[in-house]
Amino acid sequence: MNVDCIIIGGGISGLTCGIRCAENGLSCAIISAGMNALHFSSGSIDLLGFHPGKNIVFSPFDELNDFIHSHPRHPYSKYGRNVIEMALSYFGDQVNLKGLELFSNKQNNHFHVTSLGTLKPSFLSQKSVFNQHIMEAFQNNPGIAIINMEGFRDFYPEVVASNLKKNSLFNRCKIVTGSIQLPDSMTGLKNNCNLRSIDISRIFDMGSHIDEIADQIKKIAGNSKIAGIPAFLGIYNSGNILSRLCDLTGLFIYEIPTLPPSILGMRLDNALKSRFADLGGVYIAGDRVKKGYIKNNRVDYIITQNNPDTHLTGTFYVLATGSFFSGGMISESESIKEPVFDLIVEYTKNRKTWYSHDFFHPAGHPFFNFGVNTNDQLNPFDNSGKTIKNLYCSGAILSHYDPVTEGTGGGVAVSSGYYAADRILNHS
Ligand SMILES: Cc1cc2nc3c(=O)[nH]c(=O)nc-3n(C[C@H](O)[C@H](O)[C@H](O)COP(=O)(O)OP(=O)(O)OC[C@H]3O[C@@H](n4cnc5c(N)ncnc54)[C@H](O)[C@@H]3O)c2cc1C
Repeated sequence: MNVDCIIIGGGISGLTCGIRCAENGLSCAIISAGMNALHFSSGSIDLLGFHPGKNIVFSPFDELNDFIHSHPRHPYSKYGRNVIEMALSYFGDQVNLKGLELFSNKQNNHFHVTSLGTLKPSFLSQKSVFNQHIMEAFQNNPGIAIINMEGFRDFYPEVVASNLKKNSLFNRCKIVTGSIQLPDSMTGLKNNCNLRSIDISRIFDMGSHIDEIADQIKKIAGNSKIAGIPAFLGIYNSGNILSRLCDLTGLFIYEIPTLPPSILGMRLDNALKSRFADLGGVYIAGDRVKKGYIKNNRVDYIITQNNPDTHLTGTFYVLATGSFFSGGMISESESIKEPVFDLIVEYTKNRKTWYSHDFFHPAGHPFFNFGVNTNDQLNPFDNSGKTIKNLYCSGAILSHYDPVTEGTGGGVAVSSGYYAADRILNHS
């Protein structure tokens, strides 16, 4: 294989980069070993959720210049506010082309309900999770119903309701809870406890018995105006199912992210992969890039686990292999490695300083900041400190940001993938 651009890792970052390269006429292949982090995430894109010390950010774009100033080594500082803004808008347009609509509260964060009944600041969410109507309805102290499916063990409506009640925004709302039962003919099972969100989504995708389910929702909701239901209303047909349920019940129904597998993340993943394929991109799933060979400060070729004797070559390469979670970095007893190119990884040498003893420490855990260091063009350095000129890094493999404590995970992944494509397009 010889293409313009080989992207190693097909998560949200590699896919954003691949779509932008392919859209601009480059031949592009993504090689990806396994599932990406989207399958485990909330499916919302966090741009900047928290100040240090966990104070909530309401208007991330108003804060970005100061944030960049105070975090000079952060990925956002390498490309700045304008690129971040263009990247998020581009991302929304691309998934929209595949029928997935994202909500953004203009330049502000919105606050969607989590499966624990807390509110989480995010910048982009699927419209089934948050939208203008829900936002307006929430402002009038409506009755709210939190509804589960009987036997589904990854969601507890009573926990959601009791935590919502503790929030001053909801303490004047009447919140009811209940569970619907899917007809046996839909599940084919006597014991629904075996069903996970993905099984239930597949059942909903078939689109049958919606009238019956709507009747059950109406009964539980009583006088409520809004009903929250776990995000399992289908992977491919969810827009249609949700609007039918809203029409039949007269309620604003919205989805609440569940424990993994994340159906909301899978919808994003499908939309991105499908868009990449539409543009002629080649996605090779289930193969791992074993090693990249460097000659004269450039990647010469790579080999994969399934085809160790074949040299795969590209003019440009992007390393978007994620963090520890996806195998982009590997932690050994006293060191941390980037396994494909043996790039310089930034981390502290004493293992005891890698984590905080208090799991919920407001400053988070230092290891979240570990990663591959790059120059401002996102080129990394080989183990002798030389810049690798035709290799770019993007997404969770980057150092000097903490996706959890800052609430920047999706924002960095999308914007750095977009910017890596930008750098490649400027050189090709
Ligand atoms: C559990 C979890 C929940 C999260 N929740 C949120 C959230 O709610 N909101 C938010 O904004 N962010 C969230 N994040 C952060 C955000 O989702 C991630 O930062 C982002 O998805 C990372 O994307 P990525 O493309 O960089 O990497 P990944 O999604 O990790 O993808 C990397 C891909 O590379 C592949 N790969 C690895 N090594 C190789 C190799 N050698 N060869 C080929 N392929 C390889 C992996 O199999 C994987 O498919 C969450 C992250 C995690 C882990």
